[in-house]
Amino acid sequence: MIIGIDLGTTNSLVAVWEENGPRLIPNSIGDVLTPSCVSIDADGTVLVGKAARERLQTHPDRSAALFKRYMGSDRIVRIGKKEFRAEELSALILRALKEDAEAYLGSPVTEAVITVPAYFSEAQRKATKAAGKLAGLHVERLLNEPTAAALAYGIHQRDSESKFLVFDLGGGTFDVSVLDLFDGVMEVRATTGDNFLGGEDFVGVINDLFFAANQSALKFKKEAHFMQRLFAASELAKRQLSKEANVSMDLHYDGQQYQLALTEADYEKACASLLVRLRDPVERALRDSNIHPSELDSIVLAGGATRMPIVKRMVSRMFGRFPSVDINPDEVVALGAAVQAGLKMKNVALNEIVMTDVAPYSLGIEISKQLSDDSVSHGHFDPIIERNSVIPVSRVKNYCPISEKQTHLMLNVYQGESRMVRDNIKLGSLKVSLHGGAPENNTVDVRFTYDVNGLLQVEAKTAQRSEPYTLVIEGNPGILSDADITQRLAALADLKIHPRDRLESRTLLAKSERIYQQLLGDEREWFSKQIFHFEQALESQDNKVIAPAKKNIEAAIDHIEQHNRLQPSPDPSW
Ligand code: AMP
Repeated sequence: MIIGIDLGTTNSLVAVWEENGPRLIPNSIGDVLTPSCVSIDADGTVLVGKAARERLQTHPDRSAALFKRYMGSDRIVRIGKKEFRAEELSALILRALKEDAEAYLGSPVTEAVITVPAYFSEAQRKATKAAGKLAGLHVERLLNEPTAAALAYGIHQRDSESKFLVFDLGGGTFDVSVLDLFDGVMEVRATTGDNFLGGEDFVGVINDLFFAANQSALKFKKEAHFMQRLFAASELAKRQLSKEANVSMDLHYDGQQYQLALTEADYEKACASLLVRLRDPVERALRDSNIHPSELDSIVLAGGATRMPIVKRMVSRMFGRFPSVDINPDEVVALGAAVQAGLKMKNVALNEIVMTDVAPYSLGIEISKQLSDDSVSHGHFDPIIERNSVIPVSRVKNYCPISEKQTHLMLNVYQGESRMVRDNIKLGSLKVSLHGGAPENNTVDVRFTYDVNGLLQVEAKTAQRSEPYTLVIEGNPGILSDADITQRLAALADLKIHPRDRLESRTLLAKSERIYQQLLGDEREWFSKQIFHFEQALESQDNKVIAPAKKNIEAAIDHIEQHNRLQPSPDPSW
């Protein structure tokens, strides 16, 4: 049996081809979405999925997420005392999905079709295949994510040439691909996007509206605890606005009740500048592929954020017709992977032309930003060459120092897609001397040139020096050899993995610990007792004791989540 896997940056899914079509497989806690997170417990046990995601907040040093961004690089992710490469962490996710599929199918699974972004380079594709191998999966075929989305809609069943656009708005990134299916071969005609635009920005808009309506809460803006709660409440409100026309948000903090009532119409107005930004990558993709919107057979939506009606309306307005919305956008890629797996089992898998002549990452430098109150915020990433640029490519940008007294400018070069450099990969540094004076007369032109061998040349030119400052960074694809894989396979085999059948309780415990951190005072003390009872029940390893304890802690969590406020209960068993 071959399974289809969407190995995502935030969530991963597994699906299988059944007689009547593709079907998603639930994990051990009954969800089809498995967060792409790994955490290591105090006793060295590895937790994968939701339990690990809950621990991102409570145990940030012992948990990891978003490692898909480092595939194909040799960046090391540290979890507790252990070090991992992105392939190894991805392998742990794949292994969990493989086990979920085996439990569902009742038979061993040894082969998978795994999806990757269309712009993934050769190194990133090899890393994904290596992750499969480390998970005990043979991965003969990788499938481009937009192709998978198209397959889920049965585009391969149309006989004539078919052109379509995949509009993928995820949590943090926006990808647009124009695909052309001709004679059974799928070609990516263009891929564009915005690495700094996603569902999270739409949560940011609700945060801003909240502060505008509750000025007295502005004093908490720098408190991580308050912001965590606000983000969670705004995320919930955003999702509710995908179902209803109104939402009212209640946040109880520091003895005060803060509220925000929001209509979908007001929300749409407040999101206007974000919605406008969706236009440019679409226009660029159509221009680059030389395709007129009227030639498109369909517009396919992918990514959880396209569930928002305001986004769907924007897409309809942009194209003058409705996009395909029959399949859940966060499930469409995994379902398409299962379609390809089904075709492969029948030996009629769809072929793809893979584009590898694009820059797989954005390349840029670290900058500081002057804020409106005249303070300076450091550590921002400013891309010079955007991911997906056709290579070879050369781009120049002009920068100026922040102060008149500055005697030099340190150009720290990074690759990656995150807003802050700490989440990207540092490639090198170049020191440029300045002779002081007004910043606008003391600017530096920074040119990046990237070639097909992955060689990056950085040149910095100042008005005072005729010769540019230069730095050359060798392309480092970070590909694992077969010997490396064998060695890492042995290391992974030594890891203790949390038993699948006990993951549900472990996830509840991790969630309880996260909620505990968000509570204060009596509420916190009361909840601590509930956790303690649950832990004791788990230690008994007796299902008759665990089952009611589980119900109890679930009820306590529900109560806190719904009311965001709890009175201490006189009866701890409640
Ligand atoms: P993905 O990376 O495709 O899993 O997309 C995750 C993004 O989709 C996050 O920003 C979520 O907040 C967003 N999302 C998921 N479900 C919904 C929903 N029902 N309404 C609005 N946004 C959603």
